Amino acid sequence: MSDLNTAYLGFGSNLGNRLAFLRGGRDTLVNKAGVELVQASGVYETEAIGGPPDNPSFLNTVLKIQTSLDPHQLLKSCQMVEDEFGRSRPVRWAPRTLDIDILIYNDQVICEEPLTIPHPRLQERAFVLAPLLEIAPNLKHPLLDQTITELAAACAGVKELVLLRTTW
Ligand code: ATP
Ligand code: CA
Ligand code: CA
Repeated sequence: MSDLNTAYLGFGSNLGNRLAFLRGGRDTLVNKAGVELVQASGVYETEAIGGPPDNPSFLNTVLKIQTSLDPHQLLKSCQMVEDEFGRSRPVRWAPRTLDIDILIYNDQVICEEPLTIPHPRLQERAFVLAPLLEIAPNLKHPLLDQTITELAAACAGVKELVLLRTTW
């Protein structure tokens, strides 16, 4: 594979057999041409924030990948995998079988419709920072110029996040 880029992807599921959706999404994505899994964090469980009342709790994890896909191609592949696992989009932040967000792609900064990289809410989310901290503590946020360790220290709830499984 030429032109290898490094990206971090956030996976989330809060509907049905959540762990099976994370596993299926991971395996389907890394079987696609141009995507190689480098490392996966553990799986964390968090209460849903926002969305409809009684939104079921989430399982979240982060994957480090190497890819020859550019950010837009990668977004398309992630959305194809979401669709394969029955993702529907009735309202914003509705319960979902599988959500895949591109968190970071190299040190690229992209701010356009339909893609913003780094993910604009990454630094506010304990369920993103805790798994990222596990696999990339020294990674620098290209816009905020802080490491994941620094961002995690400033974000409430990172230490309280429940690690459900280390391997999956
Ligand atoms: P949030 O972005 O707050 O985590 P969400 O994941 O529920 O919310 P979605 O409904 O999955 O939001 O996605 C809405 C749109 O966000 C997608 O159609 C996609 O075009 C856009 N988008 C922008 N930046 C990114 C990114 N870095 N990763 C994934 N999708 C993105
Ligand atoms: Ca998301
Ligand atoms: Ca998403």
